[in-house]
Amino acid sequence: MFDTSIFIKFFKNYIFYYIERVENTENQIGSKESLRERLTDQQYKCTQEADTEAPFTGIYWDETRDGTYRCIVCDEPLFSSGSKFDSGCGWPSFDAPIQEGIITFRSDQSFGMIRTETLCTNCGAHLGHIFPDGPTPTGDRYCINSACINLETEGN
Ligand SMILES: [Zn+2]
Repeated sequence: MFDTSIFIKFFKNYIFYYIERVENTENQIGSKESLRERLTDQQYKCTQEADTEAPFTGIYWDETRDGTYRCIVCDEPLFSSGSKFDSGCGWPSFDAPIQEGIITFRSDQSFGMIRTETLCTNCGAHLGHIFPDGPTPTGDRYCINSACINLETEGN
């Protein structure tokens, strides 16, 4: 007769493995509930619900200090101040991420527009959008919500 105990044992291990993985991910960035406590309302809406802050209202659109802009949710370094430029659009704008692969791109067809959404690869937080009309040699304009990033100034 087929011995089901081995199958059950295997299945149980798999379930435990899965639960552990989910818990690890939650420990890293925090559960939705803890994110709501840790982030401001604006930060939560922008990163978790792909909301956009109003132009010229964020804390970094005219920021000029040197440093590294990190993901507000998981602290991953995303942009260097060296890639920031004044686009006049009212949101912090960058011409390149700090490293290949740390930004994930996704097609966004909300509000009747075809745009490319940018997300933190590490935690999936919404960051903003990328447009192909940048003035620098990269040709890219990463239009990012201030609410989704945190500037770590140099010497800090
Ligand atoms: Zn992140």
